[in-house]
Amino acid sequence: MQVAVFSTKSYDRQFLTHANQKYRHQLNFLEPHLTKDTCKLGFCFPAICVFVNDILDGQVLGLLSEHGTRLIALRCAGFNNVDMSAAKQLGITVARVPAYSPHGVAEHAVALMLALNRKIYRAYNRVHDGNFSLEGLLGFELHGKTVGIMGTGKIGLALARIMRGFGMEVLAYDTRPNPECESLGVRYVPKDELYAYSDIISLHLPLMRETYRIINKEALDSMKTGVMLINTSRGGLIHSSCLIDGLKSGKIGYLGLDVYEEEEGLFFEDLSGQVILDDIFARLLSFPNVLITSHQAFFTDTALENIAGTTLSNIFDFESGKINPQNVVG
Ligand code: NAD
Repeated sequence: MQVAVFSTKSYDRQFLTHANQKYRHQLNFLEPHLTKDTCKLGFCFPAICVFVNDILDGQVLGLLSEHGTRLIALRCAGFNNVDMSAAKQLGITVARVPAYSPHGVAEHAVALMLALNRKIYRAYNRVHDGNFSLEGLLGFELHGKTVGIMGTGKIGLALARIMRGFGMEVLAYDTRPNPECESLGVRYVPKDELYAYSDIISLHLPLMRETYRIINKEALDSMKTGVMLINTSRGGLIHSSCLIDGLKSGKIGYLGLDVYEEEEGLFFEDLSGQVILDDIFARLLSFPNVLITSHQAFFTDTALENIAGTTLSNIFDFESGKINPQNVVG
């Protein structure tokens, strides 16, 4: 099938090209993000392949549909960037990769926790500067502490397993409790209880209307003073400007972000020679207890192989009229 692959980076090209030896689609790699201004690059392609920060609102989908697009193949699990009601009205199928490596994302959440907790990023710079003092590097042990996991699907479950291995008490919040989590000894509680008792809170909910800015001022007010907040899910789960007040007041003791509300145009790009125009983001970078990675939790060799394989098989199955319903959104 003819596919326009938007937001292509070198690693997308590498893994998709390799996986395509089996499918032989015609992959047209395009570097720009998909927006209303770039969507003409996708005209006349029956399949459009996109990533997390491509914009698939009603206008873009309408234009693509007018020019023959029938399939949107997401190279990711989340689909919050797609106007699903517009896709449905236009008869465009949206396929995703529901699971490519939940372990990779869960492990990255743990990497953020440990780096923050033991101030590894500060220690690294200090030692390279010949400063071997321990002043200011005091950490705390995870063993015996309580972690609150919000969203216990595939990633939340993988994290719960790791956290139990650390000897932590695990509280969880989810509209659909996961029996596998319960069998690990995870206790489901209402979210206010999770906020009140957790030393660390890690977000693994999808971004939807119901979860948009679920972490806001009110939620932060109900958390323990000095809480560690980790977000490897989607930036929109947190009202970013509340983070500044939370960090200034000491309510948030540690903040680990792999995603950011306004990450589009920032993350995945080398902006090292440019001024950052987002004042909230720039202020967040100035705190010594904030660690930000640029949406790299998924970025492992296993995940990229799985993403490429499932994306191309979704396209192949769609063309053959037998797409796996579990990979279809909506
Ligand atoms: P999943 O669908 O397996 O699990 C999501 C869980 O959230 C489910 O258990 C569901 O019941 C629960 N949930 C949904 N709506 C809820 C609500 N309103 N209130 C409470 N619980 C609710 O998803 P997953 O594979 O674990 O992924 C979670 C999220 O992680 C994805 O949606 C995606 O946004 C994000 N993600 C980020 C990266 C990254 O690189 N940073 C990579 C993959 C996924």
